Amino acid sequence: FFANVEQVPGDPILGLTEAYNADPRPTKVNLGVGIYYDEDGRIPLLRAVQLIEQQLAAEAKPRGYLPIDGLPAYTQATQKLVFGEGSELIASGRVATAQTIGGSGALRVGADLLHKLLPHATVAISNPSWENHRAVFGAAGFEVVDYTYFDNASHGLDFAGMIADLQKLQPGTVVLLHACCHNPTGADLDTAQWQQVAALLKDRQLFPFIDMAYQGFDKGIEQDGQAVRIIAEAGIDSFIVANSYSKSFSLYGERVGALSVVGPDAASTRAVQSQVKRIIRTIYSSPSTHGAALVAGVLGSAELRGMWGAELTAMRERIHALRAGMVQKLAALGAPEFGFIQQQAGMFSYSGLSKAQVDRLRDEFGIYAVGTGRICVAALSQKNLDYVAKAVYDVSRG
Ligand code: PMP
Repeated sequence: FFANVEQVPGDPILGLTEAYNADPRPTKVNLGVGIYYDEDGRIPLLRAVQLIEQQLAAEAKPRGYLPIDGLPAYTQATQKLVFGEGSELIASGRVATAQTIGGSGALRVGADLLHKLLPHATVAISNPSWENHRAVFGAAGFEVVDYTYFDNASHGLDFAGMIADLQKLQPGTVVLLHACCHNPTGADLDTAQWQQVAALLKDRQLFPFIDMAYQGFDKGIEQDGQAVRIIAEAGIDSFIVANSYSKSFSLYGERVGALSVVGPDAASTRAVQSQVKRIIRTIYSSPSTHGAALVAGVLGSAELRGMWGAELTAMRERIHALRAGMVQKLAALGAPEFGFIQQQAGMFSYSGLSKAQVDRLRDEFGIYAVGTGRICVAALSQKNLDYVAKAVYDVSRG
């Protein structure tokens, strides 16, 4: 049966890490990843997570199945984080949240749901976007188109282009939006721009699908979640939010995410939730216990929540310091044109480096970045900043 199976190409970013691992140079740096590393180049194990883990281990609870839509303490805490403590949507029963296998699982379950409910819709994603967006919505059966997002000349958002493209979409089109810390560009919308986009979505009857994989990685939990609240306040009665704790809790391998559907009233929302549960049941039946118990445990304890908040703040402040340091060092070397790195948000920066320059970074300096020029700022450290800045300067000067 498997004699003539076509070989499909591997994930280019994972391939990059393999090449990095095989590189013997001690000064090598991997900026190709999508992971937050600490100053010592390690994936942090947050103190709040460690404490709840010890507590749970001491309790030695049995591992029964979770409900299809996950641990209730987890989905309830998630709603408060994503929609805000006093959210009217939550109070009126208009949000249904299911625990999913990471943010990726939320995207796929959400995509399957929409394909069932809106089979003829098209999905519009930003150009560029996280590569898996196109793949996930395509695999769910959608035609995927893109809307203008990034301006290569200014290294920031092309807001006029974005608005013009959104205006051209057919009513009923699903619009995938990054809530904050846009991957791969780092270019985000400000409050006034979100308000304008929300008004347009409502006016043109477009369906918002918000992907929030980095809440708390730019300005804080509250501010980074503003897109969700602005879209709700615009009076859009149905939308979806996929969120992930992979980065904000540094729990990548635990696969902790959630899918929240917002409906026009409590009864319709319950009906949509029943559809979500049926989809989950036929893919993986129910999610896993451990990661959700960790997140719910931290968010459910005032003390641990405070500790986590401080640790999350430390992660984002370290990213800000690395951005500032990079810009400063490049300017000192004579390359002031990289100032935009400080305006971009989150883990990633579209550095503006060409494929040829990225190749030189790898070949001459052992610095690995994605061919598009995307670098993971969170994989820099104060120890390698001088080395990377000098290398970027060198390749940018031919
Ligand atoms: N959306 C975006 C924009 C992402 O960058 C990522 C992770 N790289 C995800 C979703 C998926 O998150 P998870 O790892 O939790 O599946």
